Amino acid sequence: MNATYNFENKIALVTGGSRGIGRGIVKQLSQAGCRVFFTYKNSKTSADELVDECKNYKGDVTAYYCDHSKFDSIDELYDLLQKEGPIDYLINNAGITKDKPLYKLNTEDILSVLQINLVSSIYICKKFIRHLLVTKGSIINISSVAGITGIAGQTNYASSKGGLNAFTKSLSKELGRSGVRVNTIAPGYINTDMTSKFSKEHIKQTCKSISLNRFGEAEEVAKTALFLLSSESAYITGQTIIVDGGLI
Ligand code: NAP
Repeated sequence: MNATYNFENKIALVTGGSRGIGRGIVKQLSQAGCRVFFTYKNSKTSADELVDECKNYKGDVTAYYCDHSKFDSIDELYDLLQKEGPIDYLINNAGITKDKPLYKLNTEDILSVLQINLVSSIYICKKFIRHLLVTKGSIINISSVAGITGIAGQTNYASSKGGLNAFTKSLSKELGRSGVRVNTIAPGYINTDMTSKFSKEHIKQTCKSISLNRFGEAEEVAKTALFLLSSESAYITGQTIIVDGGLI
């Protein structure tokens, strides 16, 4: 239970809330009293379970289908949320990987990763900026250490996440004077479905390069998100906060 913050009377939109890091953020926001809307695409059962679980917490939680690879789907989401009042917080979390060496990536592998991870996040910010200007809210983009250091086999993914870091920096400069803060969280290796395909040996080898010698948990990233949304971080904007256990 996150008892540190009080987000009562606040509204958040979390993209890709059905699993992993997004799910952790939805739960903690709801525990802190925030009204949360989150999107899912394929994991409807998991999204419904999360909505049920959050009935035990203070903030109402609603799940919306949205395919972040399609502008039309985001437009529909925007129209639905118009009825709910301006949002205070936007957390762009939905993301995918299609890892292969560059010479093996086909056009779809490149475009889909850039579209969902980067272009869709920019488009959602563009749509919801008018809400955030009213509420003087806060945006978090979830990028990755891959966007800072680069990772072999992730040229498409690292490009999308590096782009997100640069987008955050630029947007924070546009919106700072309006009282809207924009930050990025760059996680290292976190235990979610995204990393569950790693072999035991690969995990063991990877942990050797992490100071804390383990993968992180979605809840640990979520705690950073709540800090960045809260007034405790009122003087932080345009930053990429690395949550990687000392990987880089
Ligand atoms: P995950 O467990 O695979 O969950 C991904 C989430 O994104 C799911 O809720 C999924 O929804 C949603 N999503 C994917 N494509 C979508 C689409 N087209 N439309 C709508 N929703 C979509 O991944 P995760 O590990 O939690 O990752 C969350 C974010 O953290 C991503 O941006 C990822 O790049 C970043 N990150 C993760 C790690 C890590 O080690 N796990 C490290 C660095 C950065 P459905 O299942 O409902 O389709």
